[in-house]
Amino acid sequence: MISQELTLIVAATGKMGIGRGGTLPWTGLKREMAYFARVTKRASPGVGNTNALIMGRKTWESIPPKFRPLKDRTNIVITRTSGLTAQGGNVTSSVEEAIEAVEKTEVTRAFVIGGAQIYKAALERKETKRILLTRVLSDFECDTFFPLQLDESGKSEGWERKSKEDLDRWVGEQVPEGVQEENGTKYRFEMWEKTE
Ligand code: NDP
Repeated sequence: MISQELTLIVAATGKMGIGRGGTLPWTGLKREMAYFARVTKRASPGVGNTNALIMGRKTWESIPPKFRPLKDRTNIVITRTSGLTAQGGNVTSSVEEAIEAVEKTEVTRAFVIGGAQIYKAALERKETKRILLTRVLSDFECDTFFPLQLDESGKSEGWERKSKEDLDRWVGEQVPEGVQEENGTKYRFEMWEKTE
């Protein structure tokens, strides 16, 4: 069986800050959130019809109850706490178990959507091939960080930034190019892949 590829999707500041006080450090990035929804809902042409979202228990809890499970996608929540339930989501006890759950279903693409602990565990897995990064260009105070520095230069520890054409092809749309701005916050869409 071909093992399931994992794509991490994250929005991070230049210092790789992703969270503060259990929530996102920024607010009001509606078009950025819409990009996340479109990309994670869109299945590869001709294969399957649902994608999976793998997340840590704290990220699950950071989603307002009325919005979870995130719709039209299989939600998989990772926790060490036995007996924990996540209404509308599938609960697993490790990233490995989450991947096994994904491989057993008809999902097309599997996205790891955070937080820092789950990104860290996923970055250690050979299945992790790609990172869809929203590079937040404005600075925000953060207490939670993505565990890999992805440099502006486009090269970092076994990872490289891909071209706009590669990004468009993989996500299946013309991704807005260049610096975006919403609510005074500037950001840019990027795609990174493992070099080896
Ligand atoms: P996580 O979302 O990674 O959840 C952590 C929990 O996951 C742990 O407490 C534990 O659950 C479970 N867990 C972690 N590792 C394992 C493991 N190896 N095996 C089994 N279970 C495990 O929490 P973080 O605090 O790292 O991240 C949350 C923060 O990140 C929030 O501020 C959130 O807003 C932000 N975030 C930002 C994103 C962005 O793109 N900017 C995306 C996603 C989140 P338990 O305690 O139940 O056992």
